[in-house]
Amino acid sequence: MPLTESPWTPELVQQLKALWEQGLPTAEIGRRLGISKNAVVSKAHRIGLKGRPSPLKRPPTPKYAPPPRACVWPEGDPGTKDFRFCGQPPLPGRPYCAPHTEVARAKVQPEAFKPLKEKTRTSWR
Ligand SMILES: [Zn+2]
Repeated sequence: MPLTESPWTPELVQQLKALWEQGLPTAEIGRRLGISKNAVVSKAHRIGLKGRPSPLKRPPTPKYAPPPRACVWPEGDPGTKDFRFCGQPPLPGRPYCAPHTEVARAKVQPEAFKPLKEKTRTSWR
């Protein structure tokens, strides 16, 4: 049984390449191959596996992006430094918080949200 200096059999290198191209984290690749994360990184470096897109990397957030799951109702003038989004917790399935959802509805269909009282008869007199 010959002693080998490195755990890297050709099969293992192939598996490393395949997992690397799937974009798995180096720690996960190491776990699957039964080697250390450092071994994965140094081997990948040696055989030229680099520059892959990281699946964990998120696209850069725009300058005025609200935090996720926050009311995106704009407040202030866009373009000024005071401009911001409301940021309150939104209603489930809605982009706005409860008050701003009502405002948005009223803007779109003002007639539909008038109180259903019979004020047309002016009966309060
Ligand atoms: Zn709001």
